[in-house]
Amino acid sequence: MSTIIQVAYLIAAFFFAFGLKMMSSPSTARRGNFFSALGMLLTIVVTLLHQEIVQYQWILVGMVLGLLLGTIAAVRVPLTSMPELVAVFNGLGGLASLLVGWEAYNQQQHQLSWFLATTISLTILIGGLTFSGSMLAWAKLKGVKFKALELSQPLRFSGQQILNTLFLIGILVLGISFSFEPQGNQWLLLGLIGGALLLGLTVVMPIGGADMPIVISLLNSYSGLAACTVGFVMLNNILIVAGALVGASGLILTNIMCKAMNRSLSNVLFSGFGSIVVKESKLTQGEIRPISAADAYLVIEAAQSVVFVPGYGLAVAQAQHGVRELGELLESNGCEVRYAIHPVAGRMPGHMNVLLAEANVPYDQFVEIEDVNPKMEMVDVCIVIGANDVVNPAARDDSSSPIHGMPIIEVDRSRVVIILKRSMAKGFAGIDNPLFHSHNSRMLFGDAKNSIQAMIGEFKRS
Ligand code: NDP
Repeated sequence: MSTIIQVAYLIAAFFFAFGLKMMSSPSTARRGNFFSALGMLLTIVVTLLHQEIVQYQWILVGMVLGLLLGTIAAVRVPLTSMPELVAVFNGLGGLASLLVGWEAYNQQQHQLSWFLATTISLTILIGGLTFSGSMLAWAKLKGVKFKALELSQPLRFSGQQILNTLFLIGILVLGISFSFEPQGNQWLLLGLIGGALLLGLTVVMPIGGADMPIVISLLNSYSGLAACTVGFVMLNNILIVAGALVGASGLILTNIMCKAMNRSLSNVLFSGFGSIVVKESKLTQGEIRPISAADAYLVIEAAQSVVFVPGYGLAVAQAQHGVRELGELLESNGCEVRYAIHPVAGRMPGHMNVLLAEANVPYDQFVEIEDVNPKMEMVDVCIVIGANDVVNPAARDDSSSPIHGMPIIEVDRSRVVIILKRSMAKGFAGIDNPLFHSHNSRMLFGDAKNSIQAMIGEFKRS
């Protein structure tokens, strides 16, 4: 039986790796998700055949409860709140690892080897800090307030980093002491649990809500590492492999997000981005030119090439289906239509890709920033749908801007830019956008879905 289980685990590991690879492209992502889920199903089925596990009725209770909660979350949580949901998932993964580590200690405390004690310490440390850090990240994203204290703001005090370092050293001393002398030293493990939970809070505290999605991606990687160490505690190969895959892919994603924002990870973790009061830029002076949907229609109707640039507002307005319809109408009018997606547009990686894929926008019309920017002067019209920071020219032109250096989609270099948003409100980074004052920009104020529908209406009437 053991050989069958190990072979099945090997096949499942292949499915996981293969599935992850397929998820790197929008056209194969759905199949990748399916393959990974198949790997997980195989893992669960063969693990249930392993007779040493707890009674089946408890597994059934857990599965029904999980199924219920998962279904409710999938149905009720809007796509714009996905980062909060992922934060909770990561946190619970960390908590599960911590509990397994604690139970492994209780079951084997009289015959703990040095290796097992070390893996238990690591599981508890990483699992504990992932749990508390993720819960605070969730509260920050949710904008939870305690009287005057706004959790979404970076919570900082002088000497914080030194204190965190000393704290980490203290926790490591506890963990190493426990690893060398585990017998009868339960208090060391309890200290480690308390310390790990506190460390998760103190590390996430100084980070602003604006950087939370990056932190969540990092915590996702930690939850994978915690699962990996649980694999060593339980000597379970598939947990080691799956945990390592989650840990590595979380780190890669964190790195991609940092690069897309032109920030280093240490800058994200320690700079308290969002606490800085930003001076008004000289670039944000000049007239604002509103346009009606009827006039916007006349502009796009005459265009030979149009690039749609979606952002967070597209998700809020749920305008993706309308955008696809407008794109089709433009195409049948002889216009070349493309979609330029910034890697950090929206509130989570791949946010815009998911929405446009849901509306069946053809993948071959997607263009990367590095491909569209050099040819921007040849684009007749850029239609910016609820994007703000990712098209902010201050990132390129204003060295004092907090987002200076972040790659942007340079819509301001196209012939005409039509910007769909409801007001002059700022984007996620909380800074002004000189694009709105540019001579070639036209503001189409209103909910993006309504504005798109109004332009479609004009097309159909003509
Ligand atoms: P922004 O948050 O910069 O701007 C969104 C704009 O959408 C707002 O200015 C808002 O203006 C407009 N909007 C909101 N609702 C609607 C609506 N119903 N109809 C029309 N417009 C609407 O979004 P971007 O996508 O440009 O930028 C993403 C930001 O998130 C970046 O700063 C990025 O760094 C950050 N970020 C992204 C992550 C990711 O993984 N994607 C991770 C971490 C951070 P108004 O209220 O006037 O309508």
